[in-house]
Amino acid sequence: MATALTDKLSRLVKEMRGQARITESNVQDMLREVRMALLEADVALPVVRDFIARVKEKALGQEVMGSLSPGQALVGIVSKELAATMGEGVSDINLAAQPPAVILMAGLQGAGKTTTTAKLAKHLIEKRKKKVLTVSGDVYRPAAIEQLKVVTKQAGAEWFPSTPDQKPADIARAALDYAKRHFFDVLLVDTAGRLAIDEALMNEIKELHAILKPIETLFVVDAMQGQDAVNTAKAFKEALPLTGIILTKTDGDSRGGAALSVRQITGAPIKFSGTSEKLDGLEVFDAERHAGRILG
Ligand code: GDP
Repeated sequence: MATALTDKLSRLVKEMRGQARITESNVQDMLREVRMALLEADVALPVVRDFIARVKEKALGQEVMGSLSPGQALVGIVSKELAATMGEGVSDINLAAQPPAVILMAGLQGAGKTTTTAKLAKHLIEKRKKKVLTVSGDVYRPAAIEQLKVVTKQAGAEWFPSTPDQKPADIARAALDYAKRHFFDVLLVDTAGRLAIDEALMNEIKELHAILKPIETLFVVDAMQGQDAVNTAKAFKEALPLTGIILTKTDGDSRGGAALSVRQITGAPIKFSGTSEKLDGLEVFDAERHAGRILG
């Protein structure tokens, strides 16, 4: 795998030329640099520790094949392990439910939930030929409901009206009922944003989950979120049975270490990445490319 490495890592790879196997002594410096690269990419510390321990175990004692030096071999093992961890279970949206298949969107405010809801609507309409309804349960911000209305229209989906004086649970029931009666294939439910983890709002989304019984519960997380991503991911994982992750804003200049942290903490596959503000800026998550970026 072609991986752009930090200068220090490249130098260590060169220094390790001529040695025939990966040993405890020659692996130390390399792993220290890999650790630095991961921390610089904003992977959370406990996740980094765990990852390094796994790589070390896999690498120690390995014969170095052909023209590879231990340095190159080790970098190969690191890249492969990174891609394997982040890429595990990558798959399109699961719609194998009695229609409407409900998709519940969860995440912090500003993560990109509303934008991603419309991107998914567009994806499901264009790529999977589905009839899609969206609804917003964000009764705290009238602007959020209006925003979903606008982007839903742009995506070519139908929007189910909701108002700030309604209870989210009532909105959910009404939208589900409408989707059933009008033969929608998919109901996408956008939820209230949280600036930080907040118990009342967590209880609210749990209630929505119980009412809607979604086939997909997607955790939307900002790739630039960094170390905090771990705490956010933990809280959402405890509240909800997450079935997938969408990593937004991968077009930003962060190295996107949140992907590894969140994948490891939630155990849910990263399904898509957001690559622009526009509605066609949604791609199937490419774990190998992302591994290169984290080490780069
Ligand atoms: P919400 O509060 O979670 O619903 O977040 P929004 O959908 O309102 O998004 C917050 C901001 O992030 C908006 O300005 C979006 O245009 C922007 N955004 C969302 N996804 C992406 C992405 O993948 N790339 C970029 N560059 N911006 C994004």
